[in-house]
Amino acid sequence: MLSNRELAQLIYPSLPHTPEEYEEMYPERKLPEGARVTRLGPSPTGFIHLGNLYGAFVDERLAHQSGGVFFLRIEDTDDKRFVENAVETIISSLAFFDIRFDEGVTENGDIGSYGDYTQSHRGEIYRTFARRLLEKGMAYPCFLSEKEITAIREKQEAEKTSPGIYAGWSKYRDWDKDEALATEVESRIRAGEPFVIRLKSRGVPNASAEETARHTVTDAVRGELSVPDNFQDVVIIKQTGIPTYHFAHVVDDHLMRTTHVIRGEEWLPSLPIHVELFEALGWDLPVYCHTAQLMKIGEDGNKRKLSKRKDPELSLDYYRSQGYHPAAVREYLLTILNSNYEEWRAENPDASSDEFVFTTEKMSSSGALFDLDKLNDVSKSTLLRTDAHELAKWLKAWSSEFAPEYGYVFEDMDHLADILDLGRHDARPRADLVYARQIMDHISYFFDESFSRTDSYPEEAASDAGEILTRYLESYDHSDDNGTWFDKIRQIATDLGYAAKPKDYKKHPEEYKGHVGHVSTVIRIALMGRAVSPDVWAIQQIMGEEKVRSRIGECL
Ligand code: GLU
Repeated sequence: MLSNRELAQLIYPSLPHTPEEYEEMYPERKLPEGARVTRLGPSPTGFIHLGNLYGAFVDERLAHQSGGVFFLRIEDTDDKRFVENAVETIISSLAFFDIRFDEGVTENGDIGSYGDYTQSHRGEIYRTFARRLLEKGMAYPCFLSEKEITAIREKQEAEKTSPGIYAGWSKYRDWDKDEALATEVESRIRAGEPFVIRLKSRGVPNASAEETARHTVTDAVRGELSVPDNFQDVVIIKQTGIPTYHFAHVVDDHLMRTTHVIRGEEWLPSLPIHVELFEALGWDLPVYCHTAQLMKIGEDGNKRKLSKRKDPELSLDYYRSQGYHPAAVREYLLTILNSNYEEWRAENPDASSDEFVFTTEKMSSSGALFDLDKLNDVSKSTLLRTDAHELAKWLKAWSSEFAPEYGYVFEDMDHLADILDLGRHDARPRADLVYARQIMDHISYFFDESFSRTDSYPEEAASDAGEILTRYLESYDHSDDNGTWFDKIRQIATDLGYAAKPKDYKKHPEEYKGHVGHVSTVIRIALMGRAVSPDVWAIQQIMGEEKVRSRIGECL
Protein backbone atom coordinates (compact mmCIF):
# COMPACT_ATOMS: atom_id res chain seq x y z
CA MET A 1 0.00 0.00 0.00
CA LEU A 2 1.12 3.53 -0.77
CA SER A 3 2.39 5.61 2.10
CA ASN A 4 1.19 9.22 2.50
CA ARG A 5 4.52 10.41 1.15
CA GLU A 6 4.27 8.17 -1.88
CA LEU A 7 0.73 9.34 -2.53
CA ALA A 8 1.87 12.98 -2.36
CA GLN A 9 4.72 12.19 -4.72
CA LEU A 10 2.36 10.45 -7.12
CA ILE A 11 -0.01 13.42 -7.19
CA TYR A 12 2.63 16.16 -7.34
CA PRO A 13 5.78 14.54 -8.72
CA SER A 14 7.69 17.68 -9.52
CA LEU A 15 7.44 20.91 -7.59
CA PRO A 16 10.40 23.26 -7.63
CA HIS A 17 10.39 24.31 -3.97
CA THR A 18 9.67 23.00 -0.51
CA PRO A 19 7.44 24.79 1.98
CA GLU A 20 10.56 25.73 3.93
CA GLU A 21 12.05 27.39 0.87
CA TYR A 22 8.92 29.47 0.43
CA GLU A 23 9.11 30.50 4.09
CA GLU A 24 12.61 31.76 3.37
CA MET A 25 11.68 33.44 0.13
CA TYR A 26 8.91 35.36 1.90
CA PRO A 27 10.36 36.09 5.32
CA GLU A 28 8.71 38.01 8.16
CA ARG A 29 8.57 41.62 7.12
CA LYS A 30 10.92 44.05 8.80
CA LEU A 31 8.50 46.69 9.92
CA PRO A 32 8.24 48.91 12.99
CA GLU A 33 6.45 47.50 16.03
CA GLY A 34 2.69 47.65 15.57
CA ALA A 35 2.85 48.16 11.80
CA ARG A 36 -0.03 46.49 10.03
CA VAL A 37 0.03 44.66 6.77
CA THR A 38 -3.29 44.61 4.96
CA ARG A 39 -4.47 43.58 1.55
CA LEU A 40 -7.40 44.03 -0.73
CA GLY A 41 -8.33 40.84 -2.55
CA PRO A 42 -10.95 41.64 -5.15
CA SER A 43 -12.12 39.05 -7.63
CA PRO A 44 -12.04 40.15 -11.27
CA THR A 45 -15.76 39.79 -11.87
CA GLY A 46 -16.04 43.04 -13.82
CA PHE A 47 -18.07 44.59 -11.05
CA ILE A 48 -16.25 46.64 -8.47
CA HIS A 49 -18.55 47.89 -5.81
CA LEU A 50 -18.87 50.20 -2.89
CA GLY A 51 -18.16 47.32 -0.50
CA ASN A 52 -14.73 46.87 -2.10
CA LEU A 53 -14.00 50.54 -1.65
CA TYR A 54 -15.31 50.52 1.89
CA GLY A 55 -13.00 47.62 2.74
CA ALA A 56 -10.14 49.27 0.89
CA PHE A 57 -10.43 52.36 3.09
CA VAL A 58 -10.16 50.25 6.20
CA ASP A 59 -7.14 48.41 4.76
CA GLU A 60 -5.50 51.60 3.64
CA ARG A 61 -6.05 53.48 6.89
CA LEU A 62 -4.91 50.61 9.12
CA ALA A 63 -1.75 50.10 7.10
CA HIS A 64 -0.77 53.68 6.52
CA GLN A 65 -1.67 54.94 9.97
CA SER A 66 0.67 52.36 11.46
CA GLY A 67 3.58 52.67 9.05
CA GLY A 68 2.68 49.31 7.52
CA VAL A 69 2.05 47.97 4.04
CA PHE A 70 -1.11 47.76 1.96
CA PHE A 71 -1.13 45.58 -1.12
CA LEU A 72 -3.45 44.55 -3.92
CA ARG A 73 -3.94 40.88 -4.62
CA ILE A 74 -6.10 39.66 -7.48
CA GLU A 75 -8.23 36.71 -6.39
CA ASP A 76 -9.01 35.00 -9.64
CA THR A 77 -9.41 31.41 -8.48
CA ASP A 78 -13.04 31.30 -9.55
CA ASP A 79 -12.52 30.77 -13.27
CA LYS A 80 -16.26 30.87 -13.99
CA ARG A 81 -16.43 34.49 -12.94
CA PHE A 82 -13.55 35.79 -15.00
CA VAL A 83 -14.25 38.86 -17.10
CA GLU A 84 -11.97 40.51 -19.68
CA ASN A 85 -10.27 43.76 -18.54
CA ALA A 86 -11.69 43.36 -15.06
CA VAL A 87 -8.27 43.75 -13.46
CA GLU A 88 -7.68 47.05 -15.26
CA THR A 89 -11.09 48.21 -14.06
CA ILE A 90 -10.26 47.31 -10.48
CA ILE A 91 -6.95 49.14 -10.61
CA SER A 92 -8.26 52.27 -12.29
CA SER A 93 -11.38 52.49 -10.11
CA LEU A 94 -9.38 52.24 -6.91
CA ALA A 95 -6.79 54.71 -8.17
CA PHE A 96 -9.58 57.13 -8.98
CA PHE A 97 -10.67 57.07 -5.35
CA ASP A 98 -7.11 57.69 -4.30
CA ILE A 99 -6.59 54.26 -2.81
CA ARG A 100 -2.82 54.02 -2.61
CA PHE A 101 -1.24 50.59 -2.63
CA ASP A 102 2.35 50.04 -1.62
CA GLU A 103 2.64 46.64 -3.21
CA GLY A 104 0.93 44.17 -5.46
CA VAL A 105 -0.65 44.16 -8.87
CA THR A 106 -0.35 47.42 -10.81
CA GLU A 107 -1.08 48.30 -14.42
CA ASN A 108 2.64 47.91 -15.10
CA GLY A 109 3.09 44.53 -13.46
CA ASP A 110 3.71 43.58 -9.85
CA ILE A 111 5.65 45.61 -7.34
CA GLY A 112 6.93 44.19 -4.07
CA SER A 113 8.82 41.09 -3.06
CA TYR A 114 5.93 39.00 -1.72
CA GLY A 115 4.40 38.19 -5.10
CA ASP A 116 3.26 36.91 -7.46
CA TYR A 117 0.16 38.87 -6.41
CA THR A 118 -2.27 37.17 -8.78
CA GLN A 119 -3.64 33.93 -7.37
CA SER A 120 -3.86 32.16 -10.70
CA HIS A 121 -0.07 32.56 -11.04
CA ARG A 122 0.57 30.91 -7.69
CA GLY A 123 -0.46 27.36 -8.52
CA GLU A 124 2.90 25.84 -7.62
CA ILE A 125 2.87 27.48 -4.23
CA TYR A 126 -0.57 26.15 -3.35
CA ARG A 127 0.31 22.70 -4.61
CA THR A 128 3.46 22.69 -2.51
CA PHE A 129 1.50 23.26 0.67
CA ALA A 130 -1.26 20.87 -0.37
CA ARG A 131 1.45 18.30 -0.97
CA ARG A 132 2.78 18.87 2.55
CA LEU A 133 -0.69 18.21 3.97
CA LEU A 134 -0.93 15.04 1.85
CA GLU A 135 2.45 13.86 3.11
CA LYS A 136 1.29 14.30 6.69
CA GLY A 137 -1.98 12.49 6.08
CA MET A 138 -3.88 15.74 6.69
CA ALA A 139 -5.39 15.85 3.22
CA TYR A 140 -6.52 13.27 0.68
CA PRO A 141 -7.61 12.97 -2.92
CA CYS A 142 -11.33 12.55 -3.41
CA PHE A 143 -12.94 11.04 -6.52
CA LEU A 144 -16.57 11.51 -5.58
CA SER A 145 -18.60 12.57 -8.59
CA GLU A 146 -21.31 15.27 -8.59
CA LYS A 147 -23.87 12.49 -8.67
CA GLU A 148 -22.38 10.69 -5.69
CA ILE A 149 -22.22 13.93 -3.74
CA THR A 150 -25.88 14.64 -4.49
CA ALA A 151 -26.82 11.15 -3.32
CA ILE A 152 -24.89 11.74 -0.09
CA ARG A 153 -26.68 15.04 0.46
CA GLU A 154 -30.08 13.45 -0.05
CA LYS A 155 -29.28 10.73 2.42
CA GLN A 156 -28.06 13.32 4.93
CA GLU A 157 -31.28 15.27 4.49
CA ALA A 158 -33.33 12.15 5.11
CA GLU A 159 -31.31 11.40 8.24
CA LYS A 160 -31.54 15.06 9.31
CA THR A 161 -27.81 15.32 9.77
CA SER A 162 -25.39 18.06 8.65
CA PRO A 163 -24.78 18.15 4.92
CA GLY A 164 -21.27 17.88 3.51
CA ILE A 165 -18.36 15.53 3.01
CA TYR A 166 -16.86 14.62 6.36
CA ALA A 167 -15.89 11.64 8.49
CA GLY A 168 -18.52 8.93 8.13
CA TRP A 169 -19.61 10.21 4.74
CA SER A 170 -16.39 10.47 2.85
CA LYS A 171 -15.45 7.32 0.98
CA TYR A 172 -11.84 8.30 0.29
CA ARG A 173 -10.98 9.88 3.62
CA ASP A 174 -9.57 6.66 5.04
CA TRP A 175 -8.14 5.28 1.81
CA ASP A 176 -5.00 4.19 3.66
CA LYS A 177 -6.94 1.85 5.96
CA ASP A 178 -8.34 -0.25 3.15
CA GLU A 179 -6.10 -2.14 0.73
CA ALA A 180 -8.67 -2.27 -2.06
CA LEU A 181 -9.46 1.45 -1.78
CA ALA A 182 -5.75 2.31 -1.76
CA THR A 183 -5.31 0.33 -4.96
CA GLU A 184 -8.29 2.08 -6.52
CA VAL A 185 -6.94 5.53 -5.56
CA GLU A 186 -3.50 4.74 -6.94
CA SER A 187 -4.75 3.39 -10.25
CA ARG A 188 -7.23 6.28 -10.73
CA ILE A 189 -4.46 8.82 -10.16
CA ARG A 190 -2.20 6.97 -12.57
CA ALA A 191 -5.02 6.89 -15.11
CA GLY A 192 -5.25 10.66 -14.91
CA GLU A 193 -8.82 10.74 -13.59
CA PRO A 194 -10.03 14.03 -12.13
CA PHE A 195 -10.10 14.45 -8.38
CA VAL A 196 -10.08 17.17 -5.75
CA ILE A 197 -7.88 17.41 -2.68
CA ARG A 198 -9.78 17.62 0.58
CA LEU A 199 -8.64 18.59 4.03
CA LYS A 200 -8.86 15.62 6.39
CA SER A 201 -10.55 17.50 9.17
CA ARG A 202 -9.71 16.59 12.74
CA GLY A 203 -12.97 18.02 14.09
CA VAL A 204 -15.61 15.76 15.60
CA PRO A 205 -18.62 15.64 13.30
CA ASN A 206 -21.88 16.97 14.67
CA ALA A 207 -20.59 17.49 18.21
CA SER A 208 -23.08 19.28 20.45
CA ALA A 209 -22.53 22.93 21.24
CA GLU A 210 -21.08 21.96 24.67
CA GLU A 211 -18.83 19.23 23.34
CA THR A 212 -17.35 20.96 20.35
CA ALA A 213 -13.87 22.38 20.74
CA ARG A 214 -13.70 26.15 20.48
CA HIS A 215 -11.01 28.52 19.31
CA THR A 216 -10.56 32.12 20.28
CA VAL A 217 -10.09 34.34 17.27
CA THR A 218 -9.39 38.06 17.46
CA ASP A 219 -11.69 40.18 15.38
CA ALA A 220 -10.79 43.84 15.60
CA VAL A 221 -14.37 44.91 14.87
CA ARG A 222 -16.25 42.30 16.87
CA GLY A 223 -13.84 41.51 19.70
CA GLU A 224 -12.82 37.97 20.68
CA LEU A 225 -14.80 35.41 18.72
CA SER A 226 -15.38 31.92 20.00
CA VAL A 227 -15.19 29.80 16.89
CA PRO A 228 -16.35 26.15 16.92
CA ASP A 229 -14.25 23.34 15.48
CA ASN A 230 -14.62 22.67 11.79
CA PHE A 231 -15.39 19.09 10.85
CA GLN A 232 -15.99 19.44 7.12
CA ASP A 233 -13.46 17.90 4.76
CA VAL A 234 -13.48 21.00 2.61
CA VAL A 235 -11.95 21.02 -0.85
CA ILE A 236 -8.61 22.80 -0.84
CA ILE A 237 -7.55 22.11 -4.43
CA LYS A 238 -10.18 21.84 -7.12
CA GLN A 239 -10.15 19.37 -10.02
CA THR A 240 -8.57 22.04 -12.17
CA GLY A 241 -5.60 22.25 -9.82
CA ILE A 242 -6.73 25.66 -8.66
CA PRO A 243 -7.16 26.25 -4.92
CA THR A 244 -10.43 27.19 -3.28
CA TYR A 245 -10.80 30.60 -1.66
CA HIS A 246 -10.21 28.98 1.76
CA PHE A 247 -6.85 27.50 0.89
CA ALA A 248 -5.63 30.46 -1.14
CA HIS A 249 -6.57 32.87 1.66
CA VAL A 250 -4.61 30.92 4.24
CA VAL A 251 -1.53 30.28 2.13
CA ASP A 252 -1.37 33.78 0.69
CA ASP A 253 -2.06 35.72 3.83
CA HIS A 254 0.59 33.68 5.61
CA LEU A 255 3.26 33.98 2.92
CA MET A 256 2.49 37.61 2.19
CA ARG A 257 2.70 38.24 5.93
CA THR A 258 -0.68 39.90 6.21
CA THR A 259 -1.34 40.93 9.80
CA HIS A 260 -4.95 42.11 9.41
CA VAL A 261 -7.49 40.49 7.12
CA ILE A 262 -10.30 42.92 6.40
CA ARG A 263 -13.19 41.27 4.61
CA GLY A 264 -16.97 41.23 4.51
CA GLU A 265 -18.95 39.55 7.26
CA GLU A 266 -20.24 37.02 4.73
CA TRP A 267 -16.96 35.17 5.44
CA LEU A 268 -17.70 34.71 9.15
CA PRO A 269 -19.35 31.29 8.66
CA SER A 270 -16.16 30.00 6.96
CA LEU A 271 -13.93 31.09 9.80
CA PRO A 272 -13.83 27.62 11.44
CA ILE A 273 -12.38 26.24 8.19
CA HIS A 274 -9.72 28.93 8.09
CA VAL A 275 -8.81 28.35 11.72
CA GLU A 276 -8.29 24.65 11.05
CA LEU A 277 -6.25 25.31 7.91
CA PHE A 278 -3.95 27.74 9.70
CA GLU A 279 -3.48 25.21 12.48
CA ALA A 280 -2.91 22.33 10.08
CA LEU A 281 -0.15 24.29 8.38
CA GLY A 282 1.31 25.33 11.72
CA TRP A 283 0.81 29.04 11.23
CA ASP A 284 -0.51 31.90 13.36
CA LEU A 285 -3.85 33.42 12.54
CA PRO A 286 -4.00 37.00 11.35
CA VAL A 287 -6.27 39.46 13.13
CA TYR A 288 -9.58 39.52 11.30
CA CYS A 289 -11.84 42.51 10.73
CA HIS A 290 -15.17 41.30 9.44
CA THR A 291 -16.89 44.42 8.20
CA ALA A 292 -20.62 44.95 8.29
CA GLN A 293 -22.72 44.77 5.15
CA LEU A 294 -23.67 48.02 3.50
CA MET A 295 -27.38 48.62 3.97
CA LYS A 296 -29.84 51.18 2.78
CA ILE A 297 -33.37 52.15 3.69
CA GLY A 298 -35.50 50.46 1.05
CA GLU A 299 -38.65 51.75 -0.60
CA ASP A 300 -40.74 50.18 2.19
CA GLY A 301 -38.80 52.08 4.87
CA ASN A 302 -36.95 48.98 6.09
CA LYS A 303 -33.20 48.45 6.12
CA ARG A 304 -31.98 46.10 3.42
CA LYS A 305 -28.69 45.06 1.83
CA LEU A 306 -27.56 47.10 -1.16
CA SER A 307 -28.31 45.01 -4.21
CA LYS A 308 -26.47 44.85 -7.50
CA ARG A 309 -29.74 44.56 -9.39
CA LYS A 310 -31.74 47.29 -7.67
CA ASP A 311 -29.14 49.87 -6.65
CA PRO A 312 -26.94 51.44 -9.31
CA GLU A 313 -25.13 53.27 -6.50
CA LEU A 314 -23.58 49.98 -5.39
CA SER A 315 -21.27 50.07 -8.40
CA LEU A 316 -18.21 52.29 -8.21
CA ASP A 317 -18.72 53.16 -11.86
CA TYR A 318 -21.81 55.05 -10.82
CA TYR A 319 -19.78 57.58 -8.82
CA ARG A 320 -17.23 58.01 -11.54
CA SER A 321 -19.68 58.47 -14.35
CA GLN A 322 -21.84 60.85 -12.33
CA GLY A 323 -18.67 62.67 -11.42
CA TYR A 324 -18.58 62.53 -7.67
CA HIS A 325 -15.33 63.97 -6.47
CA PRO A 326 -13.29 61.13 -4.96
CA ALA A 327 -12.59 63.26 -1.89
CA ALA A 328 -16.34 63.51 -1.29
CA VAL A 329 -16.87 59.77 -1.56
CA ARG A 330 -13.89 59.24 0.70
CA GLU A 331 -15.21 61.74 3.19
CA TYR A 332 -18.63 60.14 3.15
CA LEU A 333 -17.33 56.60 3.56
CA LEU A 334 -15.33 57.75 6.56
CA THR A 335 -18.52 59.05 8.16
CA ILE A 336 -20.10 55.61 7.88
CA LEU A 337 -16.89 53.78 8.76
CA ASN A 338 -16.21 55.47 12.05
CA SER A 339 -19.00 56.78 14.27
CA ASN A 340 -16.85 59.65 15.59
CA TYR A 341 -15.71 60.94 12.22
CA GLU A 342 -18.36 63.63 11.79
CA GLU A 343 -17.63 65.06 15.19
CA TRP A 344 -13.93 65.17 14.34
CA ARG A 345 -14.66 66.85 11.00
CA ALA A 346 -16.79 69.51 12.71
CA GLU A 347 -13.85 70.30 14.97
CA ASN A 348 -11.28 70.11 12.15
CA PRO A 349 -13.04 71.52 9.10
CA ASP A 350 -9.88 72.12 7.09
CA ALA A 351 -7.77 69.14 8.07
CA SER A 352 -6.97 66.36 5.63
CA SER A 353 -9.05 63.27 6.35
CA ASP A 354 -5.76 61.39 6.70
CA GLU A 355 -5.22 63.16 10.02
CA PHE A 356 -8.24 61.46 11.53
CA VAL A 357 -7.24 58.46 13.62
CA PHE A 358 -9.33 55.61 12.35
CA THR A 359 -10.07 52.72 14.73
CA THR A 360 -11.68 49.37 14.10
CA GLU A 361 -13.44 49.55 17.48
CA LYS A 362 -15.51 52.47 16.26
CA MET A 363 -16.81 50.49 13.30
CA SER A 364 -20.34 49.21 13.25
CA SER A 365 -20.66 45.44 13.39
CA SER A 366 -24.33 45.38 12.50
CA GLY A 367 -24.80 46.92 9.09
CA ALA A 368 -23.51 50.26 7.90
CA LEU A 369 -26.22 52.50 6.54
CA PHE A 370 -25.58 54.01 3.15
CA ASP A 371 -27.60 57.07 2.18
CA LEU A 372 -27.22 58.87 -1.14
CA ASP A 373 -28.77 62.11 0.19
CA LYS A 374 -26.21 62.17 2.93
CA LEU A 375 -23.44 61.59 0.40
CA ASN A 376 -24.75 64.57 -1.57
CA ASP A 377 -24.65 66.76 1.54
CA VAL A 378 -21.11 65.66 2.33
CA SER A 379 -20.19 66.27 -1.29
CA LYS A 380 -21.52 69.84 -1.17
CA SER A 381 -19.37 70.73 1.78
CA THR A 382 -16.35 68.90 0.39
CA LEU A 383 -16.58 70.79 -2.89
CA LEU A 384 -16.99 74.05 -0.99
CA ARG A 385 -13.57 73.40 0.53
CA THR A 386 -12.02 72.63 -2.86
CA ASP A 387 -10.28 75.49 -4.67
CA ALA A 388 -12.20 76.61 -7.77
CA HIS A 389 -9.25 76.19 -10.14
CA GLU A 390 -8.66 72.71 -8.87
CA LEU A 391 -12.32 71.92 -9.23
CA ALA A 392 -12.24 73.19 -12.81
CA LYS A 393 -9.30 70.95 -13.64
CA TRP A 394 -10.99 67.98 -12.09
CA LEU A 395 -14.22 68.61 -14.00
CA LYS A 396 -12.24 68.79 -17.22
CA ALA A 397 -10.65 65.41 -16.55
CA TRP A 398 -14.05 63.94 -15.74
CA SER A 399 -15.59 65.36 -18.87
CA SER A 400 -12.87 64.08 -21.15
CA GLU A 401 -13.51 60.56 -19.85
CA PHE A 402 -17.25 60.48 -19.24
CA ALA A 403 -18.90 63.43 -20.95
CA PRO A 404 -16.88 64.81 -23.88
CA GLU A 405 -19.99 66.66 -25.06
CA TYR A 406 -19.17 69.34 -22.48
CA GLY A 407 -15.85 70.22 -24.11
CA TYR A 408 -16.89 73.86 -24.63
CA VAL A 409 -17.09 74.39 -20.87
CA PHE A 410 -13.34 74.02 -20.62
CA GLU A 411 -12.16 76.42 -23.30
CA ASP A 412 -11.44 79.15 -20.77
CA MET A 413 -10.42 77.64 -17.46
CA ASP A 414 -10.17 80.95 -15.58
CA HIS A 415 -13.67 81.81 -16.67
CA LEU A 416 -14.86 78.40 -15.47
CA ALA A 417 -13.15 78.91 -12.11
CA ASP A 418 -14.98 82.24 -11.74
CA ILE A 419 -18.26 80.51 -12.50
CA LEU A 420 -17.58 77.77 -9.96
CA ASP A 421 -16.59 80.32 -7.35
CA LEU A 422 -19.83 82.22 -7.68
CA GLY A 423 -21.27 82.91 -4.23
CA ARG A 424 -18.77 80.68 -2.50
CA HIS A 425 -17.12 83.52 -0.60
CA ASP A 426 -20.32 85.15 0.61
CA ALA A 427 -21.06 85.46 4.32
CA ARG A 428 -23.32 82.45 3.87
CA PRO A 429 -21.47 80.57 1.14
CA ARG A 430 -23.46 78.81 -1.53
CA ALA A 431 -23.04 75.06 -1.33
CA ASP A 432 -24.86 74.00 -4.44
CA LEU A 433 -22.21 72.07 -6.34
CA VAL A 434 -22.71 68.34 -5.78
CA TYR A 435 -21.24 66.20 -8.58
CA ALA A 436 -19.96 66.83 -12.09
CA ARG A 437 -23.11 65.98 -14.03
CA GLN A 438 -25.18 68.13 -11.72
CA ILE A 439 -22.62 70.96 -11.95
CA MET A 440 -22.74 70.89 -15.76
CA ASP A 441 -26.47 71.42 -15.58
CA HIS A 442 -26.17 73.95 -12.79
CA ILE A 443 -23.83 76.23 -14.74
CA SER A 444 -25.26 75.55 -18.20
CA TYR A 445 -26.67 79.11 -18.63
CA PHE A 446 -23.18 80.58 -18.82
CA PHE A 447 -22.58 78.83 -22.12
CA ASP A 448 -24.49 79.53 -25.31
CA GLU A 449 -24.06 75.87 -26.26
CA SER A 450 -26.18 74.71 -23.32
CA PHE A 451 -28.25 77.80 -22.56
CA SER A 452 -32.01 77.57 -22.88
CA ARG A 453 -34.88 79.50 -21.34
CA THR A 454 -36.80 76.93 -19.35
CA ASP A 455 -38.92 79.14 -17.08
CA SER A 456 -41.46 81.66 -18.24
CA TYR A 457 -41.98 85.27 -17.16
CA PRO A 458 -43.97 85.79 -13.96
CA GLU A 459 -47.63 86.47 -14.69
CA GLU A 460 -47.53 89.84 -12.94
CA ALA A 461 -44.93 91.25 -15.33
CA ALA A 462 -45.30 89.16 -18.49
CA SER A 463 -47.12 91.80 -20.51
CA ASP A 464 -44.49 94.42 -19.61
CA ALA A 465 -41.51 92.17 -20.36
CA GLY A 466 -40.57 93.95 -23.58
CA GLU A 467 -40.73 97.34 -21.93
CA ILE A 468 -38.79 96.19 -18.86
CA LEU A 469 -35.99 94.71 -20.96
CA THR A 470 -35.79 97.71 -23.28
CA ARG A 471 -35.39 100.07 -20.35
CA TYR A 472 -32.97 97.71 -18.67
CA LEU A 473 -30.77 97.59 -21.75
CA GLU A 474 -30.85 101.38 -22.15
CA SER A 475 -29.85 101.99 -18.54
CA TYR A 476 -27.32 99.14 -18.34
CA ASP A 477 -23.81 100.15 -17.36
CA HIS A 478 -21.51 97.17 -16.81
CA SER A 479 -19.36 99.14 -14.39
CA ASP A 480 -22.21 99.86 -11.96
CA ASP A 481 -21.75 98.41 -8.52
CA ASN A 482 -24.37 96.10 -7.09
CA GLY A 483 -26.23 98.91 -5.28
CA THR A 484 -26.39 101.29 -8.27
CA TRP A 485 -27.43 98.46 -10.52
CA PHE A 486 -30.32 97.50 -8.30
CA ASP A 487 -31.46 101.10 -7.83
CA LYS A 488 -31.89 101.26 -11.60
CA ILE A 489 -34.10 98.17 -11.57
CA ARG A 490 -36.13 99.67 -8.77
CA GLN A 491 -36.54 102.81 -10.87
CA ILE A 492 -37.78 100.80 -13.85
CA ALA A 493 -40.19 98.98 -11.54
CA THR A 494 -41.72 102.14 -10.06
CA ASP A 495 -41.87 103.87 -13.45
CA LEU A 496 -43.93 101.01 -14.81
CA GLY A 497 -46.28 100.74 -11.83
CA TYR A 498 -44.61 98.03 -9.71
CA ALA A 499 -43.96 98.36 -5.97
CA ALA A 500 -40.33 99.12 -5.11
CA LYS A 501 -40.59 96.65 -2.23
CA PRO A 502 -42.41 93.31 -2.07
CA LYS A 503 -43.95 94.19 1.28
CA ASP A 504 -45.64 97.32 -0.15
CA TYR A 505 -47.21 95.15 -2.81
CA LYS A 506 -48.38 92.62 -0.23
CA LYS A 507 -50.04 95.37 1.79
CA HIS A 508 -51.80 97.06 -1.14
CA PRO A 509 -51.91 94.67 -4.06
CA GLU A 510 -54.65 96.74 -5.71
CA GLU A 511 -52.28 99.68 -6.12
CA TYR A 512 -49.57 97.87 -8.13
CA LYS A 513 -49.11 95.49 -11.05
CA GLY A 514 -46.60 93.56 -8.99
CA HIS A 515 -43.31 94.34 -7.26
CA VAL A 516 -39.64 94.78 -8.04
CA GLY A 517 -39.04 91.03 -7.66
CA HIS A 518 -41.32 90.34 -10.61
CA VAL A 519 -39.41 92.88 -12.66
CA SER A 520 -36.04 91.41 -11.78
CA THR A 521 -37.32 87.91 -12.53
CA VAL A 522 -38.04 89.03 -16.08
CA ILE A 523 -34.39 90.09 -16.35
CA ARG A 524 -33.25 86.86 -14.76
CA ILE A 525 -35.16 84.78 -17.27
CA ALA A 526 -33.83 86.78 -20.19
CA LEU A 527 -30.28 86.33 -18.92
CA MET A 528 -30.29 82.87 -17.39
CA GLY A 529 -33.49 81.26 -18.54
CA ARG A 530 -34.38 80.41 -14.95
CA ALA A 531 -36.44 82.12 -12.28
CA VAL A 532 -34.05 81.13 -9.52
CA SER A 533 -30.30 81.72 -9.60
CA PRO A 534 -27.48 83.21 -7.58
CA ASP A 535 -27.04 86.99 -7.49
CA VAL A 536 -27.77 88.44 -10.94
CA TRP A 537 -25.27 91.27 -10.65
CA ALA A 538 -22.48 88.82 -9.80
CA ILE A 539 -23.48 86.56 -12.68
CA GLN A 540 -23.40 89.48 -15.13
CA GLN A 541 -19.92 90.39 -13.98
CA ILE A 542 -18.79 86.87 -14.85
CA MET A 543 -20.75 86.70 -18.12
CA GLY A 544 -19.29 89.95 -19.41
CA GLU A 545 -21.04 92.94 -20.94
CA GLU A 546 -21.32 91.53 -24.43
CA LYS A 547 -23.19 88.41 -23.41
CA VAL A 548 -25.47 90.37 -21.07
CA ARG A 549 -26.46 92.71 -23.88
CA SER A 550 -26.98 89.97 -26.42
CA ARG A 551 -29.09 87.81 -24.08
CA ILE A 552 -31.35 90.76 -23.28
CA GLY A 553 -31.42 91.78 -26.92
CA GLU A 554 -32.57 88.31 -27.97
CA CYS A 555 -35.74 88.78 -25.94
CA LEU A 556 -36.77 92.06 -27.52
N1 GLU B 1 -11.89 37.54 -3.21
C1 GLU B 1 -12.73 37.72 -2.08
C2 GLU B 1 -13.99 38.46 -2.54
O1 GLU B 1 -13.97 39.11 -3.56
C3 GLU B 1 -12.04 38.57 -1.03
C4 GLU B 1 -12.30 38.13 0.34
C5 GLU B 1 -11.11 38.50 1.23
O2 GLU B 1 -10.76 39.68 1.24
O3 GLU B 1 -10.57 37.63 1.87
O4 GLU B 1 -15.00 38.37 -1.88
